[in-house]
Amino acid sequence: MRIDLHTHSTASDGTDTPAELVRNAAAAGLDVVALTDHDTVRGHAEARAVLPEGLTLVTGAELSCRLDGVGGLHMLAYLFDPDEPELARERELVRDDRVPRARTMVRKLQELGVPVEWERVARIAGDGSVGRPHIATAMVELGVVPSVSDAFTPQWLADGGRAHAEKHEHDPFDAVRLVKAAGGVTVLAHPAAVKRGHVVPESAIAELAAAGLDGVEVDHMDHDEATRARLRGLARELGLLTTGSSDYHGSRKTVRLGENVTDPEIYGEITRRATGAFPVPGAGGPLVP
Ligand SMILES: [Zn+2]
Ligand SMILES: [Zn+2]
Repeated sequence: MRIDLHTHSTASDGTDTPAELVRNAAAAGLDVVALTDHDTVRGHAEARAVLPEGLTLVTGAELSCRLDGVGGLHMLAYLFDPDEPELARERELVRDDRVPRARTMVRKLQELGVPVEWERVARIAGDGSVGRPHIATAMVELGVVPSVSDAFTPQWLADGGRAHAEKHEHDPFDAVRLVKAAGGVTVLAHPAAVKRGHVVPESAIAELAAAGLDGVEVDHMDHDEATRARLRGLARELGLLTTGSSDYHGSRKTVRLGENVTDPEIYGEITRRATGAFPVPGAGGPLVP
């Protein structure tokens, strides 16, 4: 049985639509695939509707968290009740954060004496989702900075800059609690992904385990062999499940579906612990030429 518990579709930053993703998962010989888009469950309905026979869908999400002021900690959540109100509100807060965040940055600029108008920024963004490049363009128009890249400095919009506004991210302990309350299971994603600059300290993993975390993702493209061995040892000590997955993003990254997989016994344990939703067996959607 081949089980891949971490993939992204166009519902977040993947390039396959949810329908393409499940078809590609079946073509890649997977028996089980989890759809875990960033902070949203938007892709699940489409994936479910066309799920090929023989493929089981695990509904999930990857929640953006921040620990001790450091962002980029990702928490995989599986088989939670998507309608549980507190979790749903938190999830959407992160996903729909773009506009309020951009507005905050505009306000901060105004407080710094830059006469930038929100209406102008919104017009520059047009149909695109508004962000720092649009604000920077408005600053160029006003002659505040000579070019867009000159706005991405500590003086203005760079991370931690005077007019920068941070993304909303969950506290990981809240995430564990909320997912559990919604009947789901939590697995800390790629906790030792050095390349991404996001390494979760072992002490924090231990605290999360004590707070109800179910598992850690061990077999991931960003973990080398030594890292995997170390994480496996830590998981054994802390009584955590260990998973493996591709973190597939379609053509955005080179990783293949099923490049890393999860042990069937561990998958079984995850499904036993979850009470918020059941894995969806594929009934075979409409055939595509
Ligand atoms: Zn991630
Ligand atoms: Zn991911």
